[in-house]
Amino acid sequence: MPTTILVSACLLGIHCRYDGTAKADVRVKDYLFRKGLIPIPVCPEQLGGLPTPRLPCRFTVGSGREVLAGAGEVVTRDGRTVTQSFLNGARETLEIAGQCGCRLALLKERSPSCGVRQCYRGEVLSTGMGVAAALLSEHGIRVFSEEELAELDRFLDKTGT
Ligand code: SF4
Repeated sequence: MPTTILVSACLLGIHCRYDGTAKADVRVKDYLFRKGLIPIPVCPEQLGGLPTPRLPCRFTVGSGREVLAGAGEVVTRDGRTVTQSFLNGARETLEIAGQCGCRLALLKERSPSCGVRQCYRGEVLSTGMGVAAALLSEHGIRVFSEEELAELDRFLDKTGT
């Protein structure tokens, strides 16, 4: 059975970022092709009902894990709370992972949805996951950022995937 992997759609060249652009990463595409992984593109912010383009968003309190625990908040640049949209998008993303049998995810670092190790709290780059990354991780899906292809490679080798 081929292995499926959730991938942030912007990394695959989909124009779903807040400013209507993509963040196509040729290293990611080459890696997926070389390893025979089947990418399942997802944009949690679009899946949560946010428009494209949209205002950029930041955490005011906490990060993804705190949002899941009801103790964090995501706002737009002009201060509008969008926490529920982020939660909705994370849940839709998890649903797609289940439907497609994904146990792995390769996500865009520093996004308030997809960030794996870092995200912005206010204007400050901080340690913490995005909301979708945190939810996937809490459900046993191994999440890696596009900056962690070597770590993903070691994981695939170790698990014989
Ligand atoms: S939510 Fe994720 S997939 Fe969508 S634009 Fe942001 S980083 Fe890319």
